[in-house]
Amino acid sequence: MNRFHPICRPALVAGLFALASGCATTDYVTGKSVQNMYSLDEDVELGQKFYAQTVGELKKENAPIDQDSVRVALVREITANIAAVADIPSLPYKATFVGDPDFVNAYALPGGNILVFEGLWNPKEGLVQTEDELAAVVAHEIAHVNCRHSTEAMTREMLPNLILAGAAIWAEIEEKDDAQLIIGGAMLAYNGLVGTKYSREDELEADRIGMMYMAKAGYDPAAAPRVWDRLAGASDSQLAKVLSIFATHPRDFKRSQRLRAHLAEAQALYAAAPVKRDGSRKLADLPPLVSQKKTPRPPSTPPPSAQPKTPQPPATPPPSAH
Ligand SMILES: [Zn+2]
Repeated sequence: MNRFHPICRPALVAGLFALASGCATTDYVTGKSVQNMYSLDEDVELGQKFYAQTVGELKKENAPIDQDSVRVALVREITANIAAVADIPSLPYKATFVGDPDFVNAYALPGGNILVFEGLWNPKEGLVQTEDELAAVVAHEIAHVNCRHSTEAMTREMLPNLILAGAAIWAEIEEKDDAQLIIGGAMLAYNGLVGTKYSREDELEADRIGMMYMAKAGYDPAAAPRVWDRLAGASDSQLAKVLSIFATHPRDFKRSQRLRAHLAEAQALYAAAPVKRDGSRKLADLPPLVSQKKTPRPPSTPPPSAQPKTPQPPATPPPSAH
């Protein structure tokens, strides 16, 4: 039995075709034509929604957010310096510092929110040791934002699903117009933000573009391959603490070798940079972490089975992180 309204059918097909074919856009970094269903404003909107959700979950776990003024100022300064020389400097970049030494993590959300965790420079499990190396990680994240890898990946994954989902919704709504399909597509798109992964090509592009950004901002680009060498050489116990982007990033020495192949180009940008940062400073020399991490007060009569609450990692971040 055909459940589709005969008038709706052409509109639906036309709508899906327009979605599938009308998302060619120009990449801000390469100038090439790419497929992205989202506008830059939508990148910002999606990123801000996910940021609010992520910070809400971190707060529920009593994670100390933006509490250590020295570290907050450091990550904000690095983010601002790199964002200023990025291909889309006008985005509302914002760095958030999470003072939890257990999470070796940093990631970016579409539109410019960057989260950096204290564990990134944890002396035992951390992956960065100097400000230049921290700048390399932040620059990699800002490169993902500028390359719009999140919404490109969502577009890659969404288009085939959208066709299927459109048909399913169509079967459900029967005689309703295709406005509902747009709503359904938007819902799917938002859900897709959580599960989407960067491709290996995205990661390598973010490595290279990030190294150019850090060099232009006055950080020594030689720090970038050092970080990825350290990730490639990390032990399994070290990696057990490494979350998100680092866990899914390619983990081999080829990555740093590829970066070194572009190092001369980055060094030339660094030499021409109007400002040179003192990025060799060791992060281990920062003053002790200021954290007001609250321990939940136990109830007056704890149940016999009560266990101490251990912090959980935040919700799976979108690719970015990678
Ligand atoms: Zn990445």
